[in-house]
Amino acid sequence: MLNIVLFGPPGAGKGTQADKLVEHYGILHVSTGDIIRNEIKNGTKLGLEVKSFTDKGELVPDQLVISIIEDFINKHLDAKGCIFDGFPRTTPQAEAFDKMLKVNNQEVTLMLSLEVPDEELVKRLLQRGLVSGRTDDANPEVIQNRINVYKAQTAVVADHYAAQNKLHIINGVGSIDEIFNRLCTEINKY
Ligand code: ADP
Repeated sequence: MLNIVLFGPPGAGKGTQADKLVEHYGILHVSTGDIIRNEIKNGTKLGLEVKSFTDKGELVPDQLVISIIEDFINKHLDAKGCIFDGFPRTTPQAEAFDKMLKVNNQEVTLMLSLEVPDEELVKRLLQRGLVSGRTDDANPEVIQNRINVYKAQTAVVADHYAAQNKLHIINGVGSIDEIFNRLCTEINKY
């Protein structure tokens, strides 16, 4: 099974590229951000629990997202492959992820990390905020906090996969198709 971790800061283009990769490779896509937003929208117990974190641009507690992903994996054991978008986002999440894959005789195949300068991220997120209805995209302070949280807690996850020789850094500036082709070039090596 092709297990791709699509990595990068908020606004790097993970969701956009994931949609194209899903179509091209016929694999699944799971976004913890999308699942969390859906829970909040539906007013579930989990949604109520996490709203105070996402509103501020903070990460939700590891155990909650680990359970979400564990559930997903157990429901899709026969998939050809999957893109993990927005997960893992901390070192404990990465460690738990490796373990749960191993139980099923699987592993992360590769991590693709999209690199985009901060100024460009802020510009893209504010633009998305105008159309997406995402409250965390509408507020410059929340955007800056998400970028800070990425640097402080998430960026290290790349080191975790670099140590396993699985990290591929991709220039995330350019046209959507250019970036897509860069991603495919790396995936096709596997
Ligand atoms: P972004 O656009 O900032 O990359 P996402 O759409 O992936 O954000 O997620 C939105 C919010 O959901 C995050 O700001 C965070 O609060 C929460 N979240 C998503 N994935 C995780 C995760 N793996 N660990 C902790 N919190 C998460």
